[in-house]
Amino acid sequence: MGLLRRVLIIGTGGTIASEPTPGGYAPLRNDAFFRRIRQHPQLSDPDSLSSRSGTATPTFSSPVETVPVGKNIRYPTLRTPVLDEHGARVEYEILDLDRHLDSSEMTPAEYNIIASLLEENWDLYEGFVILSGTDTLAYTASILSFLFTNPGKPITITGAQIPLSQPRSDGWTNLLDSLYVAGVLPYAGVGIVFHHQVFHGCRATKTSPNLFNAFQTPCVPPLINLNVKITHQSRLPPRSSALPPRIIPLATSPTVISASIHPGITGTLLAAQIDAVPTCRAVILSAYGSGNLPISEEAGILGALRKAVDKEILVVVISQCPIPNVYPLYTQGRTLLEIGVLPGYDLTHEAAFAKLLWLVSRKDLTFKNRQELFQIPVTGEMSVEGGARGL
Ligand code: ASP
Repeated sequence: MGLLRRVLIIGTGGTIASEPTPGGYAPLRNDAFFRRIRQHPQLSDPDSLSSRSGTATPTFSSPVETVPVGKNIRYPTLRTPVLDEHGARVEYEILDLDRHLDSSEMTPAEYNIIASLLEENWDLYEGFVILSGTDTLAYTASILSFLFTNPGKPITITGAQIPLSQPRSDGWTNLLDSLYVAGVLPYAGVGIVFHHQVFHGCRATKTSPNLFNAFQTPCVPPLINLNVKITHQSRLPPRSSALPPRIIPLATSPTVISASIHPGITGTLLAAQIDAVPTCRAVILSAYGSGNLPISEEAGILGALRKAVDKEILVVVISQCPIPNVYPLYTQGRTLLEIGVLPGYDLTHEAAFAKLLWLVSRKDLTFKNRQELFQIPVTGEMSVEGGARGL
């Protein structure tokens, strides 16, 4: 008998768990999701099911005995068939959050719940899979990358473009690949598993609501390609028996605001947005090209930003370009840096948001510490070489 690895799946909703309703797909929370997985021979070995229950292989309508875990529900243990030539299998449980959400409803409060569940179950499993809607999946992955730096175990995040309840669902493959990565591969870290690839969690962005390969990491190659041959970067972060991570609770009041620069934007518009949120501690400016925005007197943007920095609000500039990189080549970009606006290098919007939320949630840091830490890669989220610093 080969290796048997234990994996916990945390279900949060999203398309993968959705059913058609008169109002469109909705991530209903019922046991049909578990029943479908239990019937799928690549995800649930029928022999192991019948030998455990001592009865015939369950059918779709066989009873499901769930266990309440706080407000959440745990489904019975399932076991995959053999997943590799060494006989490795994965035994796993699905823990469904009490509310299934479309991922556009996710907030820092949900990230805190997911992080606490990971922490509570850390010693019981060798790997974790988070099921999420794809719309904000890259945000979830980025946030978890900051909460669990160098985790020593895999935390994979996946979802689907077509629900498991519908024909041609890509969720089956994504789920199987995730169990394989979380349970079997010699890899540890926060990674997005989608369409036969594993991406660095804090480098990814959703690039299509239609294509099955919906995620990309614009500035770095994928970590792992799960083709007939599995190929990966020469150095994957290894599994280790490191101590469980100590997570910090994320601030749940609105702390990070985001503004996209567009022609005609003024300082008044920006200031109105910042002033409307008394708990604001950070601002992301999605600027043009290499980090440019209007700096003329008439636009009045510099004044608004200077005021924000004086109030100890972190102001950072990232690029609107699909392959981002902030280089202050032009007067506009340089002037921003001079007034204390920080360069976001090649951060995606998702990673910039996650980093700022994590920084402003850390009570042990002063404003100056936060400014400094923002400019240093913490969890592989950005490359600073040749970026704004080098100029
Ligand atoms: N709206 C869905 C969600 O993010 C989209 C998806 O899951 O693909 O929850």
